[in-house]
Amino acid sequence: KPLVVAIDGPSGSGKSSVSREVARRLGLAYLDTGAMYRALTWHCLASGVELDDAVAVEASARALKLEQSTSVEHEFVKVGDLDITEQIREPAISSAVSAVATTLGARTELVRRQREAITHAAKRMVVEGRDITTVVAPTAEVRLLLTASEEARMARRGMQLGGTQTAEQLTSQVLARDAQDSTVVEFQRAADGVVTVDSSDLDFEQTVAVVLRVVLE
Ligand code: C5P
Repeated sequence: KPLVVAIDGPSGSGKSSVSREVARRLGLAYLDTGAMYRALTWHCLASGVELDDAVAVEASARALKLEQSTSVEHEFVKVGDLDITEQIREPAISSAVSAVATTLGARTELVRRQREAITHAAKRMVVEGRDITTVVAPTAEVRLLLTASEEARMARRGMQLGGTQTAEQLTSQVLARDAQDSTVVEFQRAADGVVTVDSSDLDFEQTVAVVLRVVLE
């Protein structure tokens, strides 16, 4: 039977790694919607589309030849024949992605594709992003907001980036992205019926355990 687990949260909340692990343990498909916004951003930058040209960004979204794995065992993101799984994690993409994500026409197209992916997975999927509990899958069986204190989030991002940037640079970048993202979708406060899990004082395994408990209860 259907089991859509919708997980929203800001960057550094542990959302992606927790979502993947929950999908693995429950044998569900997994959709990283942030990767879709990142892939579109990569494509716009690669093809010389100005990110403040909403019409061009929307057209790029509609035409995007995106292929994304929904299996946690073998993750990849491709645009056309190009595998861009690694490229979409680069800082240049992270700093440009909000500009794309605030283009409403592009969101409409990506949300449409996300719903299609959920249907294609027979509605047995963990879907992770910023607007999953509210826009993409408001009728999901389980809806969670994964939060963490600013300190905890920055510490985690610092580890992910391997500490190449100073803590101050990192903090201002992440907060700027969250602030810009928040102009379009409210993902920092739980919507009605959404369960909040605060992972500030939990390690990875503990967070996974709490989420699994919510899913299975
Ligand atoms: O989750 P991740 O940090 O990879 O997301 C990258 C960006 O994609 C976010 O900063 C946000 O701009 C956008 N995004 C979004 N809606 C989603 C998922 C991601 O706007 N559902």
